[in-house]
Amino acid sequence: MTRNSDFAGETVVATGAGSGIGQATAIAFGEAGANVVVADIDQDGGRETASTITDETAGDGTFVEVDVTDDADVEKMVETATSEYGGLDVAFNNAGLPGTFDSVDEISEEDWQAIIDVNLSGVWRSMRKEIPVMLDHGGGAIVNTASILGKVGEARTPAYTAAKHGVVGLTKVAALERATEDIRVNAVCPGYIETQMLDDAGVTTDEELRAETEALHPMKRLGTADEIAEAVLWLASDDASFATGETLAIDGGYLSR
Ligand code: NAD
Repeated sequence: MTRNSDFAGETVVATGAGSGIGQATAIAFGEAGANVVVADIDQDGGRETASTITDETAGDGTFVEVDVTDDADVEKMVETATSEYGGLDVAFNNAGLPGTFDSVDEISEEDWQAIIDVNLSGVWRSMRKEIPVMLDHGGGAIVNTASILGKVGEARTPAYTAAKHGVVGLTKVAALERATEDIRVNAVCPGYIETQMLDDAGVTTDEELRAETEALHPMKRLGTADEIAEAVLWLASDDASFATGETLAIDGGYLSR
């Protein structure tokens, strides 16, 4: 079988690429030969990812400080892809905030708005700028980061779960709209993955919470950022040429229970 997952000379933008899943995926694109616009609100993490790509992979990395709640920042990210690398082939819309562990009737207006604004509206804001550029350059592939919580609910995660269900819906809508225009739009739905997000939530640091979380996955472990990166590269590659509107769970069996 011929593998097409070679991104040599292609341009990728990746949001939330300063840490965790976004960082691992941006570096994996670099290893596959892509030039990557590394977008993150966190300058240190973003710079680190971009220099790793430039110094240690076949690709090139450029960091752009981007807050996905700011339309002008998102515009700057997409413009950098064209000004630095001449186009835009792949977008990985991944930036996200963790949930707050409040119930529906407890969560504050402020927390609700902040989580929806980054995790859902940030994906829409990104696609809104990416799609016209892809259309101008003959098509492309978009992968959005949803979650297992884009498919099922979990108590005390109202804004996060609503946002991720929204990402799943938005992915399908964009896929349908561009199905005949050479733009494929898919999403990954990770299970619990060992990243800063889970460190901050105490999942990886509290032994009991870690064991409980691992037990939710039939494979009885957490996933790694690299395991999500593999799926993103596949969805973005020509190997997935007939896949669009798909929301691919990489979850150690979580959703199959
Ligand atoms: P992470 O905290 O390691 O990385 C998230 C990145 O997003 C950080 O670098 C952060 O600075 C950036 N970010 C946050 N707000 C931003 C903003 N307004 N603009 C630009 N960048 C911003 O977490 P992660 O686990 O790698 O999360 C990546 C994505 O994966 C998120 O969308 C998250 O919801 C999703 N996800 C994570 C898990 C998990 O268990 N870790 C599971 C399912 C889905």
